[in-house]
Amino acid sequence: MSTATPQKFEFQAEIKQLLDIVIHSLYTEKEIFVRELVSNASDALEKLRHTQITEKDIFDDKLELEINVTTDDKAKTITLQDTGIGMTRAELVENLGTIAHSGSKQFLKAMGEGGAKNSNLIGQFGVGFYSAFMVAKSVKVYSHSWRGAEPGHVWSSDGSGSYEIEEADGQHRGSKIVIELKDDCADYASDWKIKEIVERYSAFVSFPINLNGKRVNTVQALWLRSKNEIKDEDYTEFYKFQSHAHDDPRLRLHFSADAPLSINALLFVPKDNTEKLGFSRLEASVALYCRKVLIDSKPKDLLPEWLRFLKGVVDSEDLPLNISRETMQDKALIAKLNTVITKRFLKFLEEEAKNRVDAYNEFYAEFGIFLKEGAAMDYTHKDSLVKLLRFESSLTEKGKTTSLADYVTRMGADQKEIYYLVGPNRAALESGPYLEGFKARNLEVIFCYEPVDEYVMGNVREFDSKKLTAADHADVKLSDLPKPEGALSEDDTKKLTAFIKESLGARVEEVKASDRLVDSPALAVNADKFMSPQMRRMMKAMKKDGADEPVKVNLEINPRSAVMKRLFETHATAPDRAKLVAEQILDNALISAGLLDDATPMVARLYKLLESV
Ligand code: ADP
Repeated sequence: MSTATPQKFEFQAEIKQLLDIVIHSLYTEKEIFVRELVSNASDALEKLRHTQITEKDIFDDKLELEINVTTDDKAKTITLQDTGIGMTRAELVENLGTIAHSGSKQFLKAMGEGGAKNSNLIGQFGVGFYSAFMVAKSVKVYSHSWRGAEPGHVWSSDGSGSYEIEEADGQHRGSKIVIELKDDCADYASDWKIKEIVERYSAFVSFPINLNGKRVNTVQALWLRSKNEIKDEDYTEFYKFQSHAHDDPRLRLHFSADAPLSINALLFVPKDNTEKLGFSRLEASVALYCRKVLIDSKPKDLLPEWLRFLKGVVDSEDLPLNISRETMQDKALIAKLNTVITKRFLKFLEEEAKNRVDAYNEFYAEFGIFLKEGAAMDYTHKDSLVKLLRFESSLTEKGKTTSLADYVTRMGADQKEIYYLVGPNRAALESGPYLEGFKARNLEVIFCYEPVDEYVMGNVREFDSKKLTAADHADVKLSDLPKPEGALSEDDTKKLTAFIKESLGARVEEVKASDRLVDSPALAVNADKFMSPQMRRMMKAMKKDGADEPVKVNLEINPRSAVMKRLFETHATAPDRAKLVAEQILDNALISAGLLDDATPMVARLYKLLESV
């Protein structure tokens, strides 16, 4: 039989089924057909490059390796041409008439398993070449194989069950796919629309893509190149292009791994934390690629939530281009990628913290909040994250920080716990009454200035087997200090605490002599196991129930302070005034603790006290 006459073929049954679904689907993001065809073209070029290494006799050997896309909005056509490996007649039959493509097979399987007519699956699987039929009235594939001996052919079909092949002379090497667009898909014959689609999905394809004679993809897939070939400026330019950013990246991590998965990743930390600046919550935006072709620009599960500030690219050859976000297997793959990349990034931060202290601290000042979020919520990476946290403390200078690991090295032999205090700033914590007992005993206290810190410390709970303990909590027990001269005796102290308790009634749970006061007359400690002062403040700010309940506090008094000694002297002789003083002392303590809700009664009382001066 002569091959010069057109020959008609029936599609294999599965292809018919596939085409039927593709043609009749209402899938809205039909644009992925461009991605699929450009990927096929790029694969064909890649295969040619390989063939050139071993084969001498290549048809049209001098041809540039490139992809040319042309649109014709009058004729309503789009044409994608490559100078790749091409197809012989037999290959046209084999490749485009039978189902070889594993993605298509999976797609059909998923449709069979209850996905019927769920056209979203098309985008998720990517149905390869056949996706052209979502937009096409007819498709013609002109192809000339790299093997020079065979003439060129044209394969054509309207997708309705059969296709034809006939000889077509005068072709260069490679394939040219001409799509005659359906009337309602005529948009895809517009230059700007295709430019946008190619830039989105195929910006990093290594072969030149020319659209109507103009090069579209000019940025290289930097992540696949070796680090020592890349200059800082190249990285910065790539970051700006890929993340649509205007700043210079603060940190970058470029790495590749072969096991357990093949990964090439290029991650950036931007200069600023825009969430901190009050912009909306960041969205995951490290894009997922498979061999330079975009799969998903915002894959949700690729990285943990707390890494949502990262930008960049992860490319894995192990992902099928047509990855579905539905199947278990793919979920497991993404989870594996997530683990490998997160661990690698944490290791990177650890190295930064060790080797480039200033840069790390600047990073931390901006993005530390995300690490805290991770430490509090991500059990898997908690230990590594806690090591990366930094705080000021009672022993650091203002503005300088310490890690918990360094804190532990400074702990004395008897110290079992790590102490921390939450407050608005250093000055407030240093001048408050809570620190003095710790200072007098040379115990370091971590200073926490952010409202979330309390939640973070509460969730982290311990570090290096040492409990994290709030220094203003009622349960804190400190060692005895030598009794200074002139303090009230134990007996007198008992009398005084009884008097104060009686004067204050239900406003306090307990009044006792303090072991943590040195200079201040008194302090209030939280006696509410379920609600700390900071939590209460937050709940008040959010107008939550329970925030208006009276606070439960213990009042601790300092038998060494002049105020207490004076109060002891007057409580018997001028009990009314002494009662006012006791109330005022409690209010003062509540102010220091940030627990005084209403200062009005205090003002009236103060005037009364002033009268008696
Ligand atoms: P996939 O590309 O995932 O294998 P497709 O259905 O898109 O599946 O394509 C089927 C086959 O057709 C490809 O594997 C390839 O062998 C061949 N093919 C498709 N496009 C081209 C092209 N532009 N040049 C050469 N061969 C191609």
